[in-house]
Amino acid sequence: MNILQRNLKYRSLNFKENLGESYKLLQSKNSFSLIFLNDPFYQIAVPYYLKSLMKLEAGRLNNLNTQCKDIEQTKKKWEEEKRNVEALVRSIAEKKAYIERKKNEKLAYLEKIRTQKRYQQQVVATLERESKEIEQMIRKLASSNIQKAQKGRLSWPVIGSITSGFGIRRHPILGGAPLFHTGVDIAASYGTPVRAAASGRIIFAGWYGGYGNMVIIDHGGKISTVYGHLSKIVARVGEEIAEGDIIGYVGTTGLSTGPHLHFEVRVNGDPVDPLSWLIR
Ligand SMILES: [Zn+2]
Repeated sequence: MNILQRNLKYRSLNFKENLGESYKLLQSKNSFSLIFLNDPFYQIAVPYYLKSLMKLEAGRLNNLNTQCKDIEQTKKKWEEEKRNVEALVRSIAEKKAYIERKKNEKLAYLEKIRTQKRYQQQVVATLERESKEIEQMIRKLASSNIQKAQKGRLSWPVIGSITSGFGIRRHPILGGAPLFHTGVDIAASYGTPVRAAASGRIIFAGWYGGYGNMVIIDHGGKISTVYGHLSKIVARVGEEIAEGDIIGYVGTTGLSTGPHLHFEVRVNGDPVDPLSWLIR
């Protein structure tokens, strides 16, 4: 109960008491009062006094009542404002939490990207190293001087369209990291027989990192062909083979997005554009 409400209560009690006293005064039988009451002046003055007292008190009560109503309204307004502020505080807290969550998500995403980038750089470095290693391997293993493969005469190891050409390209798996494509990708369904592009000798047949299952044929005269991502290899190292012989089957082993043949032509180990060597 606030001060004004307490004040109002006090005033009401006080008023009742005043009325009571006046009534008692009117009803009292003592001589002193009778003298007064018999006085014509008091016969007029007392009711007049009581009437003004009542009017005054009624006015005060009315005033207090109005003030109380104002207070109630103000209180309601404040409570509403309090509720609004509380809602605002809650909303701010929620927004803050949301921003914090988004910030963490962003940081996690950035970390993921960084990790991916590191991985991509590692893979690119590995693929480049592997290609160099193949170069060394071919130079070491290629022995025959009789050149059995002629430029523009190689038969297609599988029949299909070129899905990725020779040269610099954005790697499909490595999130667009630029990488030198050392061969061509020929589209073919899984299990399609892969045939020797020309006659020669198998100098490598086995798993080789990003190439997956790989076969290298030395065609003599420092010319060799490479076949990658095979599902199965049927050629054996050291084996002499003829053009068109099946050496393996199309697959998606190693670093590959789906079944296709990765085909390379190398001159003294250096990769060249297979399209200028394949028959048209
Ligand atoms: Zn390829």
